[in-house]
Formats: sequence, structure tokens, C-alpha cells
Amino acid sequence: MHIEIDKIDSKGLALDDRVALDENLLIEEEGAFLEDIDYSMHLSRESEKIRARGNIHTVVSILCARCLEPFDLKIDAPFAVTLLPVRAIELAGESLGQDDMEYSFYEGNSVDVAKILMEQVNLFIPIKPVCTPSCRGLCPQCGVNFNREHCQCERLNNETSFLFENIKR
Ligand SMILES: [Zn+2]
Ligand SMILES: [Zn+2]
Repeated sequence: MHIEIDKIDSKGLALDDRVALDENLLIEEEGAFLEDIDYSMHLSRESEKIRARGNIHTVVSILCARCLEPFDLKIDAPFAVTLLPVRAIELAGESLGQDDMEYSFYEGNSVDVAKILMEQVNLFIPIKPVCTPSCRGLCPQCGVNFNREHCQCERLNNETSFLFENIKR
């Protein structure tokens, strides 16, 4: 999955493929790929600066941050990233973060396509993924999944606050 940068010119190089990536590299510890990654990528180069843009399609299984159940997250999205040699990133430091472009880096004389794809997949995974926007989560007291069942805690809490309300009066 390494492409020599000499093979990339200003006209660019188009890739279109399906690959399997290592799910241990997913940002989500419990994450797993349910499908291989279908991607198209266009690489173009201006001296040491390489632009990669394209589309990624895959499905990952990740845990909902509210109910902790695994769910399928479909990723079907365009991406655009600028790749610089490691050395340039070190030199430029913070000034790179000033525009909205996304940056990544490559080492030596080749770019690692798998690394670019993995970074993009991880960017598409939300920090707090939820299975559905209406997910009701778990009861903080007994851990019951409110999407599936009810528990006594809610009723007890309501009764207790009702009692307290009465005492205050
Ligand atoms: Zn959920
Ligand atoms: Zn409960």
C-alpha cells in the first residue's frame, strides 16, 4: 500500500480499490470492520506536498456512548488531506493548524495509502457515537437499558422527590 512519491506528478494518480484494514488501529477499542474499505483516491504532487482526495465507503461496528450496545456506523464520505514529509511538519509546527486543511505526513519517499485511509475512517467516527439520536441510554443506578426495558429506580426517585417536596412544605 506504499506509493513512491516519484510516481505521483502534478497531473496526479488515481486509485480505486477495496482493501481490508487492521481493526486494531480503529480509534474505538471495541470497534470492528463489518466491511472492507471501498475507496477511490486521487493523489497529486507539488514538490514535496501531496494532496489526496477521494471517497471512502465502509461499515464499522462501534459501541454507543449512551447504551453501550454495539451498532453499525456507515461511513460513506469524501475526504481531502494534504500530506507533507515528517520533517516539514516538525519545522512548521503550529502554523500548519491555521487554515482548515487537514494535514498528515509521510515518511521517506513513499506515501502509505492504508495509513491515509485509516486516519480518515477514524476521523469519521464521532467522539461520542450514539446508536440513534433518540437512544435513551442506561439507568445510572441499575444499568437497565432504557431502550428495551424499564426499571424501578425512576419510579422510586419520583416517589422520593415527591416525599421531599411534601416535607419542605
Ligand atoms: Zn444507544
Ligand atoms: Zn434503574
